[in-house]
Amino acid sequence: MEKYNLILLGPPGAGKGTHAEALKREFNVEHISTGDMLRAAVRGGTELGKLAQEYMNAGALVPDEVVIGIVRDRLIATRPERVLFDGFPRTPAQAEALEQVCLQVGLPRAIVIYLEVSDDEVVSRLSGRLQCHNCAKIYNTRYDQIEAGSECPACEGEVYQREDDKAEAIRQRLRVYREQTAPLFDYYRYRGPLVEVRAEGSTIEALSAEVVAAVRGAAD
Ligand SMILES: [Zn+2]
Repeated sequence: MEKYNLILLGPPGAGKGTHAEALKREFNVEHISTGDMLRAAVRGGTELGKLAQEYMNAGALVPDEVVIGIVRDRLIATRPERVLFDGFPRTPAQAEALEQVCLQVGLPRAIVIYLEVSDDEVVSRLSGRLQCHNCAKIYNTRYDQIEAGSECPACEGEVYQREDDKAEAIRQRLRVYREQTAPLFDYYRYRGPLVEVRAEGSTIEALSAEVVAAVRGAAD
């Protein structure tokens, strides 16, 4: 495992954040979520952040050069030894650019993990998702005793439904995701190692254990 980065892919709502936590505990990799990174850049009002926001507001994917610029800045700033990329890359062009950036900063090649989840399951999961305005913690009306406008149990901030978690936006994101990522999986199937895990129909703990085992299998 010491010689690999990890790349965790899957549609929005596949549970990437949760399974990323398990992978981080198990393999001691630095977790880089492009979603969080993009939102941080947007909040910070950087030039790249402002550009990214225009696309996110429209429910579109942020263009490659913007995302890669944000990722490159982050890797150069903190110089991690091994990284778990979460939700990135999304296109073969991003994958190639990421390889170049990793070479530049001395990071190893990656095992790619794909979390497969059906569209219906994604819509069901995400339309219940709420986030705290204050501490950014994520909740779900399916599992937590909480609704939009409630107080965050962690920090007493207000929880709300993000624009990109509304049903219409979710369907649009899924269409864009499937269309754009199909060539990415062809790319990784050819280059390997790529492991696919069906990330539904079981408990979160059992699914995380499956993801970890799949990575161990691929690293051997
Ligand atoms: Zn909070």
